[in-house]
Amino acid sequence: RRVVSSRIGVTGLAVMGANLARNIARRGVPIAVHNRTTAKTREFIEEFGDEGEFTAAESLEDFVAALEKPRRIIVMVKAGKPVDAVIADLTPLLDEGDIIIDAGNSHFPDTVRRTEECAANGLRFMGIGVSGGEEGALLGPSIMPGGDPSAYAEVEEILTSIAAVVDGTPCCVHVGPGGAGHYVKMVHNGIEYADIQLIAEAYDLLTHVGGLDAPAISAIFEEWNSGDLESFLIEITAKVLGKTDERTGGPLVDVIVDQAEQKGTGTWTAVDALGLGVPLTGITEAVFARGLSALRDERRAASTTLAGPTPGDGPDGLVDDIRQALYASKVVAYAQGFAQMRAASLANDWDLDLGAMATIWRGGCIIRAQFLNRIRDAYAEHPDLDNLLMVPYFTEAVANAQDAWRRVVVTATQQGVAVPAFASSLSYYDGYRRERGPANLIQGLRDFFGAHTYLRTDAEGKFHTRWGQDG
Ligand code: NAP
Repeated sequence: RRVVSSRIGVTGLAVMGANLARNIARRGVPIAVHNRTTAKTREFIEEFGDEGEFTAAESLEDFVAALEKPRRIIVMVKAGKPVDAVIADLTPLLDEGDIIIDAGNSHFPDTVRRTEECAANGLRFMGIGVSGGEEGALLGPSIMPGGDPSAYAEVEEILTSIAAVVDGTPCCVHVGPGGAGHYVKMVHNGIEYADIQLIAEAYDLLTHVGGLDAPAISAIFEEWNSGDLESFLIEITAKVLGKTDERTGGPLVDVIVDQAEQKGTGTWTAVDALGLGVPLTGITEAVFARGLSALRDERRAASTTLAGPTPGDGPDGLVDDIRQALYASKVVAYAQGFAQMRAASLANDWDLDLGAMATIWRGGCIIRAQFLNRIRDAYAEHPDLDNLLMVPYFTEAVANAQDAWRRVVVTATQQGVAVPAFASSLSYYDGYRRERGPANLIQGLRDFFGAHTYLRTDAEGKFHTRWGQDG
């Protein structure tokens, strides 16, 4: 067995774990690496062994023995049961106060449970969100650590040193206790779903109403990336649309099957919002749109059966209208996602610093965008903000964009192009800005059929009416 030499360990050397381990090693931190299938560990060392001070362990016993105390172990295995299996295997090998860090995309209730189970065994557990895909893991991800603050203090230096840096600030901050880190990562992924859906709707309109081909739309996205929309996703949209297929010589997107897959984090976000009672239309519509896309055979049959207009020419100024609709809908999607995090923070006593969340999403992660600076500023000025739409910057941005936004939704509706995220974001906006909505009638109906009672605008207390009998 090797002598104790490593400050931290990573178990799970698939793409994310391997790149995270390399990132840590490249900072000069001695690190132990382990993978269930030992061949992968050997391959890893063969390929990357000279990038840093690695200790390769073929058994968990050797892996644990290589770590200084308190041991810091990053688990980067497939989310779900594998995480529990690894924790169960590690637990008898560890000592009181050692730290297990689950850096995968675990569902936050699992993180809460694992935190308790580890605590019962004298271990400290952290659930940390890591965003940025494989490149982020290697070159600097956005890191959302949740869990015991004393455990975070033991890994803060390493985590902040490997994170992306924007304007001198590392994209890593302690999010909160228990499942808070994985929760925030979940909402991050949900917002990513909404962002991507909005981009897809813009592409659909530019194609079918604008009559533009993929290279032309690529150029539009490239231009948009130099304005308010500047972000990683807009940048890579230009690249994806601009890619030529070697086989056909045409745009590659034109031969990609139009069925979106998903791993579930968008659904978790939407389901959690339903539980909290937070209106989360942008993200939820994005999840539904992926579901609809998956019904490819049904859509094929419906396309020749169900009537609708055939998209034709768009109105003048369509391209810039779509840009504005995209921006306004994006503001709404973020306002909703941040409102959800605020509600979760209040419900769980997490005391989330929402401005800090915007700050750590500015670099490394998939939703990195200029726009997040504005969100950070908004929370710096108003930490208890209910809704981002109420901050002057966003109030004005949406006010300026709304005419174009409405025109786009009208055009899409008239021409029969589905824009669930554009349209539902606009409906949310219109619903949110109404002092008095139509829920008075909902309450009347509920009281009629179920004696659920209602409140009055002109008197205190709950009321019930015997509806119907005498008009
Ligand atoms: P992955 O495909 O999700 O998982 C593969 C790894 O899990 C392998 O090391 C595998 O070991 C190990 N594993 C699976 N079952 C195991 C078990 N029962 N016991 C021990 N080890 C087990 O890998 P990944 O794509 O690198 O992702 C890792 C985590 O990061 C996931 O939670 C993922 O959701 C999250 N994540 C991924 C990305 C991304 O862009 N891919 C981005 C952010 C977060 P063997 O080699 O022995 O099979």
